[in-house]
Amino acid sequence: MATEVKGLKLKVSDYVASLVPYPPGKPIEELERELGITGSIKLASNENPLGPSKKAVEAIAKGLPGLHRYPDGSCYYLKEKLSAVMGVSPEMLIFGNGSNEIIELLIRAFLKTGDEAVMADPSFAVYPIVVKSVGGAAVTVPLKDMRHDLPAMAGKITSKTRIVFIANPNNPTGTVVSAGEFSDFMKRVPEDVVVCVDEAYFEFVESGEFPDTLSYIREGRPVLLLRTFSKIYGLAGLRVGYGVAHPSLIDYLNRVRQPFNVNTLAQLAAIAALDDSAHLERTKANNREGLKYLFSELDALGLECVPTHANFFLIKVGDGKRIYDGLLKKGVIVRPMASYNLPEYIRVTVGLPEENRRFMEAFREVLG
Ligand code: PMP
Repeated sequence: MATEVKGLKLKVSDYVASLVPYPPGKPIEELERELGITGSIKLASNENPLGPSKKAVEAIAKGLPGLHRYPDGSCYYLKEKLSAVMGVSPEMLIFGNGSNEIIELLIRAFLKTGDEAVMADPSFAVYPIVVKSVGGAAVTVPLKDMRHDLPAMAGKITSKTRIVFIANPNNPTGTVVSAGEFSDFMKRVPEDVVVCVDEAYFEFVESGEFPDTLSYIREGRPVLLLRTFSKIYGLAGLRVGYGVAHPSLIDYLNRVRQPFNVNTLAQLAAIAALDDSAHLERTKANNREGLKYLFSELDALGLECVPTHANFFLIKVGDGKRIYDGLLKKGVIVRPMASYNLPEYIRVTVGLPEENRRFMEAFREVLG
């Protein structure tokens, strides 16, 4: 029986009271429970439609009998493996419960009440939430033609700025900042401002114009590069992401990190996934072909899509909420964009070929 909870007299800060929780993509189970349907598809959270690598699944199975032990708090083997793969020293790496957690560590280590963080709008919705949760100010700079306006962002850096966030490719637009744009931007960033380059979708990028973020770290710039096992590696449910930076920046992040933040199965699966380049290649091929199919179908309908470098893209549909709701009723989950101030758009993740066809079929019906 539900218990009625009386109003609590809590002393919560104004900045926490004013936060709106992050709206995640709707889970398939929730939709099916609500509508009493089965066989739905989810193209809403930029997940890998091929699933996890089989090697990762095998590694998880092998790790199950050891679950009575705490995880390795230093992620020793994962760190060794990734340091070899990336050609960076282990002291330059930190792992988190998803790259989301590393964003929190960054804020906890470098931002206090009254400080500022500069970011694009719209960009990944977690940045302003975490900044505001400690009383920081999220200084937002509108995208220009759906792309980061780096000169304008550089112009917003003040003596109060501690961090600049750049999602590259950006979520929700899928657009990228080029090597030249990033280089010009970095010339204007003061030495004591951390530039957090969030490359959650890095592995999907095929543009030769993409910045070499690691080279800035090697040069000694305070850049924190974020990547994740949630997207191309297909391990979103395990929660493991990583950060790369100068060892002294990583050292500060470790000071505010909980001891066992990355679980045992996540560590084992991530190590195995790094060995499965065939899975990565299959995923990239699926994405490339899926985008080709979807863009040509949508183009034929005369609809405007934002050119993307990731595994998702925006479609201008007019009334995004109506299309989102209509698709839900047909068992197709996409992402409405009103919370990103793009109410005319929906964001769609590339699925398997049959999922893409199913989306197009439902989409045509809902468009009317
Ligand atoms: N950064 C960006 C740009 C994202 O889109 C996401 C996931 N939606 C994340 C970070 C967080 O990923 P995770 O915590 O699963 O690593």
